[in-house]
Amino acid sequence: MINMETGTDKKFADKIIAAGDPVPGEDVTASFKACYQCGTCTGSCPSGRRTAYRTRKVIRQALMGVEEVLDSDDIWKCVTCYTCFERCPRDVKVTEVIKSLRNLAAQKGNMAKAHKMTALYVLKAGHAVPANADTAKLRKSIGLSEKAPIAQFSEKDMNEIQTLVKGLKFDELIGFDWETK
Ligand code: SF4
Ligand code: SF4
Repeated sequence: MINMETGTDKKFADKIIAAGDPVPGEDVTASFKACYQCGTCTGSCPSGRRTAYRTRKVIRQALMGVEEVLDSDDIWKCVTCYTCFERCPRDVKVTEVIKSLRNLAAQKGNMAKAHKMTALYVLKAGHAVPANADTAKLRKSIGLSEKAPIAQFSEKDMNEIQTLVKGLKFDELIGFDWETK
């Protein structure tokens, strides 16, 4: 329910805070209640220069408990450059709030196609940007082994990643089929 004095929906705001990525000793998403809608974030946003995405509006919707924000493409248009995070005069950790909204959206099964593809790479290769033949060539040209010591080339690490993914049911969330991997 919206508090008419502050224009915020505490229940939804708390849900966003709880869905934030944990940072030891810091409650990174809580400060978003201090937003006073100045629009500095929107004015700083490189994504908003090319699309109809408006950062300030997303923060407002989050504060007011407009849960449709979780179904919108807008929250996936942020490129996590952290410019708004740096510039917000109220010290709102804007990028973290957007990431938290994405966590909630993903739990509902809403995830942008490009982000799903990135997640698939992590499942298959342990990295969002896996090493490829060009990487191997480049490493060899400077006298390194073709395979870097990364999860992609470690059966043990890949097993651990895939166990975590299955435990969290993240594979089901993004529709990953282990049979056809
Ligand atoms: Fe709110 Fe900060 Fe964006 Fe201003 S810059 S609208 S205070 S989040
Ligand atoms: Fe825009 Fe996201 Fe960068 Fe903030 S972090 S300025 S919302 S692209």
